Amino acid sequence: MSDCIFCKIIAGEIPSDKIYEDDMTVAFRDLHPQAPVHFLVVPKKHIECAADITAENSAEVARCFEVIAKLAEQEKLQGGFRVINNCGENAGQTVPHIHFHVLAGEVMGEKII
Ligand code: AMP
Ligand code: ZN
Repeated sequence: MSDCIFCKIIAGEIPSDKIYEDDMTVAFRDLHPQAPVHFLVVPKKHIECAADITAENSAEVARCFEVIAKLAEQEKLQGGFRVINNCGENAGQTVPHIHFHVLAGEVMGEKII
């Protein structure tokens, strides 16, 4: 997707604070962190949101969660972390390329769930 900001990060066309990359995924620190540790795990394949996950592309999503587990160790998140995905307008999704927020480094406050 030529106008997708995360596709541009994946292609190296715009800079990011990348902490991990493999053949299917990238992870980089969020530009506007909402917790002491806040990074995004993103499949390289342009899937718009969680509503678009299918049997054909679910391996990309599964890989994101393998990477989250790996990065939890790398980033020393033994105290725990929260994973958030926003899908669509009502959820406040601002970048239409599926991504998983990983938040950590403090006791999470008021719970949404
Ligand atoms: P969402 O609202 O769930 O779509 O989350 C999009 C996230 O992407 C927000 O937390 C933004 O701060 C973050 N973001 C947007 N542009 C960039 C960028 N160029 N580098 C890193 N994070 C970004
Ligand atoms: Zn994209």
